[in-house]
Amino acid sequence: MSVQVVAAKMAEVELQDVPSKESPAESPVTPNSEDKKLVKTEPHEVGSSATTPTAEPSVKAGDPSPGLLTPNPAKMPQASAMRRPDQQQNGGDAFVNRDGTVAEAPRMKKIQFADQKQEFNKRPSKIGRRSLSRSISQSSTDSYSSAASYTDSSDDETSPRDKQQKNSKGNGDFCIKNIKQADFGRREIEIAEQEMPALMALRKRAQGEKPLAGAKVVGCTHITAQTAVLMETLSALGAQCRWAACNIYSTQNEVAAALAEGGFSVFAWKGESEDDFWWCIDRCVNLEGWQPNMILDDGGDLTHWIYKKYPNMFKKIKGIVEESVTGVHRLYQLSKAGKLCVPAMNVNDSVTKQKFDNLYCCRESILDGLKRTTDVMFGGKQVVVCGYGEVGKGCCAALKAMGSIVYVTEIDPICALQACMDGFRLVKLNEVIRQVDIVITCTGNKNVVVREYLDRMKNGCIVCNMGHSNTEIDVASLRTPELTWERVRSQVDHVIWPDGKRIVLLAEGRLLNLSCSTVPTFVLSITATTQALALIELYNAPEGRYKQDVYLLPKKMDEYVASLHLPTFDAHLTELSDEQAKYLGLNKNGPFKPNYYRY
Ligand code: NAD
Repeated sequence: MSVQVVAAKMAEVELQDVPSKESPAESPVTPNSEDKKLVKTEPHEVGSSATTPTAEPSVKAGDPSPGLLTPNPAKMPQASAMRRPDQQQNGGDAFVNRDGTVAEAPRMKKIQFADQKQEFNKRPSKIGRRSLSRSISQSSTDSYSSAASYTDSSDDETSPRDKQQKNSKGNGDFCIKNIKQADFGRREIEIAEQEMPALMALRKRAQGEKPLAGAKVVGCTHITAQTAVLMETLSALGAQCRWAACNIYSTQNEVAAALAEGGFSVFAWKGESEDDFWWCIDRCVNLEGWQPNMILDDGGDLTHWIYKKYPNMFKKIKGIVEESVTGVHRLYQLSKAGKLCVPAMNVNDSVTKQKFDNLYCCRESILDGLKRTTDVMFGGKQVVVCGYGEVGKGCCAALKAMGSIVYVTEIDPICALQACMDGFRLVKLNEVIRQVDIVITCTGNKNVVVREYLDRMKNGCIVCNMGHSNTEIDVASLRTPELTWERVRSQVDHVIWPDGKRIVLLAEGRLLNLSCSTVPTFVLSITATTQALALIELYNAPEGRYKQDVYLLPKKMDEYVASLHLPTFDAHLTELSDEQAKYLGLNKNGPFKPNYYRY
């Protein structure tokens, strides 16, 4: 049976089936029933328990909810609160700051709120703004955007905050760089739509059904063509949206213009200062006569702004959907401190997000990032990849396919064995550091490539990082008087030793693909669809289904997100027979795997 037919069947089921608490989706003999023991496990407990193979939530039968655009949301097992094991490699409670550094708990002190240091009416001069924007670092660098902006008008120095702009319908409730760029932006959005089939499918299926009717979503994400497709989908599903950028550099100005022209209240432009950044968030939230009831955040800044400035708003807010590692950490901190006052969905740890963002996205963008910055030829080059997790696996696979000779370093014997079985030579970094042409870090750890190794690299060695933060390569150790830095291209530095040896350092050790290339739209489609479904689920969940805690999306929703993307490939999914379903103890409509399944 084709996927289209399955999807159509799903649509029928979702409109007809009325779930009952007595009919849990999973059979009592499925492994899922075992999972229930894992509910509300603390992260360190999960990590340290030898008998607990998973950090994923248990599943329970959900309460009835109205017909939604989910596969069968009413029947869908609800997400269960869980503590997520810390993904950082450097300690139990690592926390990623906005400058990409990792700090230990207590983390909340690390968040610098604008109200602690500035007032909007004391705005810095234009020069002040510009210097500020340089001095602050990336926000939410753990999420990705295709941030190419083709219509950046660097000649226009006027701050958007000093401009009075209106769209063609006379609406001026936005603040962007230049509304005249709307046509360019519309084309960008249309291109993105081609690679975001699931969101387009949700829109089609929304005809007559508005699962987000009455939802007032305030969002803070990268403002790119892909986000625009998400926003327009949410709008088609009935939501009102107000949006700010989660990153001061990643806004595509022309896309922001197209959104403003389309009636969206967008407050964002590329190259905001820190003051602008908080001002935009405040403009999004602080509007007389309009109160958000849903938050879609990427990095946690919006959530924390509301906590700090408008805590009463949480009385009306039904839930938070958070996309990034950083934001999720913040939510778990709030939850731990008993300060989380609404349910939150951790989209970051959805299976589809992890597998696609980390593995497949990096498999493609490692080559893109290296090629754009260095024009390097991969065939025959010796490359060492530090870390053989999802990101490392993606990088190694891509480089091997291009004919590179790939070495791997690992600390974990399981991942190390995987590397060996996949045909890579497992080495210690010091064994190959003199001979390799390219060094790539993807461990999430710190000080993986230290000065000693940098000293021993051969002339022309390319050094870059694919991990979340800029801690993996000890770049600070290269800022010493005897070494000369030469900026040869945007994001490319030659660091030259007194004897003339030079290494090629990319993006100053920051995330290569985020800094130097774009990210495949299809990957963002998967994440955006997950976000949309999380919003629908939280918005429509009956009172009491979700408590004031952090939840993972039900596995069935992950499966649904995947199924919505299959038609792109004309993929034909096999359907379980009744007999087979019974044999495996599964519901024919999923979920098909226990929560501890690793894929
Ligand atoms: P992971 O935990 O699956 O893999 C990291 C691996 O590094 C682990 O197997 C670990 O054992 C190993 N490791 C830790 N310290 C090491 C050391 N000193 N030497 C060698 N190996 C070491 O994580 P992942 O999903 O692969 O992500 C890795 C990093 O990449 C994280 O920081 C993550 O946030 C980031 N990330 C980047 C992108 C991107 O687009 N660039 C996408 C997703 C995630």
